Amino acid sequence: MGTAPAAASESDPRASVRTRVFVVGAGIMGSGIAAQSALAGCAVTVEDVSEELARRGLDNARRALDSAVRKGRVSPASRDEALANIDTAIGLRRADAAQIVIEAAPENLALKRTLFTELEAAAHPSAILATNTSSLPVTSIASGLRDPGRVVGLHFFNPVLQMDLVEVIPGLRTRPEVAEAARAFARRLGKTVVDSRDSPGFVTTRALAVLVNEAAWMLYEGTATREDIDTAYKLGFRHPMGPFELTDLVGLDTALAILDVLWDGFRDSRYRACPLLRSMVAAGKLGRKSGEGFYSYPAPPPPAGAAP
Ligand code: NAD
Repeated sequence: MGTAPAAASESDPRASVRTRVFVVGAGIMGSGIAAQSALAGCAVTVEDVSEELARRGLDNARRALDSAVRKGRVSPASRDEALANIDTAIGLRRADAAQIVIEAAPENLALKRTLFTELEAAAHPSAILATNTSSLPVTSIASGLRDPGRVVGLHFFNPVLQMDLVEVIPGLRTRPEVAEAARAFARRLGKTVVDSRDSPGFVTTRALAVLVNEAAWMLYEGTATREDIDTAYKLGFRHPMGPFELTDLVGLDTALAILDVLWDGFRDSRYRACPLLRSMVAAGKLGRKSGEGFYSYPAPPPPAGAAP
């Protein structure tokens, strides 16, 4: 990435023709970010806490790329090249080779702060440390680091390969050149960039949280069925998905965590999470990723070419 704050020198382990990207967390977003970065020609390592989870992330990246081929958005050759550009890791050790690290671990401030402390030690000092948080203050994630100026919010949307937007969120201490490098990276991936101040939920998540929470309250109060609420949002407002279909895609745990961040940040009743969301999360009904949320999902078949 020619836009990184400092180019890799020859003695630098990151010296390489291709941009090296290290993605922390191989879940819904990490796998999509890995696929999108690899399609743009980056060498990508996607990391998780176990071999099984990292492999699942790679399988999901493969599925997303297969689907893009079926839709004619990506050629089979580009898919194969992208897949050859992705490998997996356990632990942060291999972050040292990356020009950009993108954290996509669960939406939990304490977890992200611990991860960034470890990443500051593991990554090369000139690498950008980006977080895909959808709601947490970037400034808080970076606070306590020796160099908080290298941390920036880089908020992708789900499904990453299909969504054109990336929100860039500079924290209060983010250096302008780091924010600019993050914008350039997102544009290189073919995304349109909008900037947001470091306010809870930024622009997009704040808007979405209210929409989803209101739908949950209507279901909880018996105003209409989940199917009718979804249909009303789709046909009444031309939304491509209903709020429950969308929450199942996002993950109910993530949606609830976001509402709690907004509540903490604003103390405004608009962001009081519907108890239905909380009890469904407690029951493990997390949406597509757990096989059941507002709707049920059969287990996906293994992707073509996946290891048995
Ligand atoms: P997810 O639950 O699907 O994936 C999180 C992954 O992180 C899991 O595979 C988990 O094993 C892994 N993980 C947990 N602890 C870890 C650690 N210490 N080190 C490395 N990996 C670890 O979550 P997601 O939906 O991909 O969300 C990830 C981030 O992206 C969150 O901050 C979320 O708010 C944000 N986000 C989510 C969406 C969405 O639609 N789901 C959209 C935009 C942004």
